[in-house]
Amino acid sequence: MLSQHIGAICKPVVNKRDHITTGQLIGNAEAFVSAPIYSPVNGTVKDIALQSHPVLGRAEAIIIESDEDNSPKQPCPDKFSADFDPRRFLPEQIFDAVRKAGIVGMGGAGFPTSVKIKANPNSPINTIIINGCECEPFITCDYRIMLEWTVQILTGVSLIGRVLNCDNIYIAIEDNKPDAVAAFKQAIQKMPSISGIKVVAVKTKYPQGDERQLIKSIINKNVPTGGIPPMINVLVANVATAAAIAEAVVLDNPLTHRVVTISGGGIKNPGNFYAPVGTSVSYLIELAGGLNNDAVKIILGGPMMGFAIADLSTPITKTGGAITILTEKEIGPAKRGQTPCIRCGRCIEVCPMNLNPTKIAHAAKHNLLETAEEYYMSACIDCGCCTYTCPANIELSGFIKTGKILVARQKKLMPK
Ligand code: SF4
Ligand code: SF4
Repeated sequence: MLSQHIGAICKPVVNKRDHITTGQLIGNAEAFVSAPIYSPVNGTVKDIALQSHPVLGRAEAIIIESDEDNSPKQPCPDKFSADFDPRRFLPEQIFDAVRKAGIVGMGGAGFPTSVKIKANPNSPINTIIINGCECEPFITCDYRIMLEWTVQILTGVSLIGRVLNCDNIYIAIEDNKPDAVAAFKQAIQKMPSISGIKVVAVKTKYPQGDERQLIKSIINKNVPTGGIPPMINVLVANVATAAAIAEAVVLDNPLTHRVVTISGGGIKNPGNFYAPVGTSVSYLIELAGGLNNDAVKIILGGPMMGFAIADLSTPITKTGGAITILTEKEIGPAKRGQTPCIRCGRCIEVCPMNLNPTKIAHAAKHNLLETAEEYYMSACIDCGCCTYTCPANIELSGFIKTGKILVARQKKLMPK
């Protein structure tokens, strides 16, 4: 996909029938807030055409037919060692490598990482939080890499600290993953050149992986409504993003692959797969043994925040860490259909952002976008807790999500 990050959409820099190689630049944009795209395989450009997109419906994509003799890229944690010293690299070298590699927030946000790590002398970052909390139930891709790529992640973390001149760094891991906590603590002790990194076990709860919740849990500060963490001098980055930074800076590798969790009761062999960005959902389902007979819903992402898809040729993107396949039983009462709001207030009670979901959703449903904004629609983090808890099965977060997309389109922040 040419659109897999927040910011300017990339334009193709290859043509139909071009033969391309792994790591070759295929999409780019000049804008500061953007991230280039590289081919994950050797192959031939079959077409440049509209393709199903998990969020935008349909969007432009470069469709590559992979060469038959492709030797798949392997993960490379063994290329990183405990004697790594981030002072080998100047801050500007780190920034340039991250920008060139096309790295975006891999926890799902998709914000270009180079923009995030650009030091701002007027508002320096004094706290870095590395997010090792899975963003949703069912997803384990970050957990796996925390266990298997520990030194690689720490290398990336130390480079983030170096580029921002900040050595007050927390790695936040949910307390149901004591082996990951132990792996980081042991690895840090063996890395003499990195300093200031603390490993913190945080309560396992949803949505702990949201950056605002994490900041509150760790340093007890609130991000202003509608604001971003740098406004309170904090940067939050996901563990997979840190691993990609290490690869980009130390090995000069662009971001072409990611780990994807395929999970849920509807898949035969759930697991984590190291996959080229752009791999179709159908191919990954096939690798995981195929669907069980009772599979009824395929979601790109997790069950709370993901997008249900109808077209299995939809590709995974740099931010797509999961495919969740649910059975009728797992979907539960949603199939019973929506009934009128009984004003129980449960949606308000569970909202981690202290919003009034029912009022925002009602306004968004009736296209009263200004009213929805007055109720702070843009502060919604799409966690889905309101929908999950609603006894009337009202798709509150769905209406709110649609409302936010419509506002973004009005402001020309998103293609139509
Ligand atoms: S999805 Fe619902 S519960 Fe979650 S932040 Fe938005 S309004 Fe609140
Ligand atoms: S949880 Fe559902 S039924 Fe209860 S107030 Fe909210 S929208 Fe209405």
